[in-house]
Amino acid sequence: MDIKDGFIGTVGNTPLIKLKSFSEETGCNILAKAEFLNPGGSVKDRAALYIIQDAEAKGILKPGGTVVEGTAGNTGIGLAHICNAKGYKCLIIIPDTQSQEKMDALRVLGAEVRPVPAVPYKDPNNYVKLSGRIASEMENAIWANQFDNLANRQAHYETTGAEIWRQTDGNVDAWVAATGTGGTFAGVAMYLKEKNPQIRCVVADPMGSGLYSYIKTGEIKIEGNSITEGIGNSRITANMEGAPTDDAIQVNDQEALRVVYQLLYKDGLLMGGSTGINVGAAVKLAKQMGPGHTIVTILCDSGTRYQSRIFNREWLKSKGLTPDWEQIPKTFSE
Ligand code: PMP
Repeated sequence: MDIKDGFIGTVGNTPLIKLKSFSEETGCNILAKAEFLNPGGSVKDRAALYIIQDAEAKGILKPGGTVVEGTAGNTGIGLAHICNAKGYKCLIIIPDTQSQEKMDALRVLGAEVRPVPAVPYKDPNNYVKLSGRIASEMENAIWANQFDNLANRQAHYETTGAEIWRQTDGNVDAWVAATGTGGTFAGVAMYLKEKNPQIRCVVADPMGSGLYSYIKTGEIKIEGNSITEGIGNSRITANMEGAPTDDAIQVNDQEALRVVYQLLYKDGLLMGGSTGINVGAAVKLAKQMGPGHTIVTILCDSGTRYQSRIFNREWLKSKGLTPDWEQIPKTFSE
């Protein structure tokens, strides 16, 4: 019998997919973990599950308790599913810049959703800090604290990283992924480097994030902005601290958009914007490394979470971006 034990038993063990059009284009094996196939629909189900299980094991989350989190959406969706499956309440503090689809999903799941103005991390009313304060003032509540709670990267070390190693029989030359909390990048990088220190671990970064400059120069410098959601950071989180990192690659929105549309029309995969950054960086890395290499990245979540945005011509135009499939160039700028 091959039966999964409820929602929780269904998290992880996602397929590793060869991206055909991008592999043909680069002469490399571009492989991607299909994290959008997790039961809550994103890469964040793994972290949400580990964070809740860790709090239970430590005895700080008790029956009937509340899980509070500041999240751009996907972690909240994962937490809300798991809270329902385990009988907890869920309170989500979300920046009001995030897509309506994600807020609607959270409400449908029964989470209490409090949208707050998007202000920088240094502001005491930043959504992350606010969520921590709210949790500390509540009875029988935990703050999931995904950015600095190491249960997050532990999930990816124990599951995503180990799965990638197993699914490729250890034939991996590079690992590349964008970071929000850094849990995915760091956990997988730590696992793969332990198995084979030759594997290149590269951070993919959108514009408007400080990690690219930090990895290249040691200084956090932020330039431009991005329509992608859930990725990019202006600080080094506890989850990113000490993560083995060989290099960084920056991908702009127009490049990410071309990838998203190529994934849709050539590979049949409807993906969100962060996946565009990931696969765009994998293509750039393939060009740096040359043909014959195996590069692994992540398909983070589905494009249905962004239908009103990256698949909406008018919205894209308002951001100065063009969705035209015909304009997808054959090569990327290096
Ligand atoms: N893509 C999307 C769509 C996300 O929501 C997130 C998490 N915020 C990520 C990528 C990055 O994952 P991590 O937090 O593990 O760095």
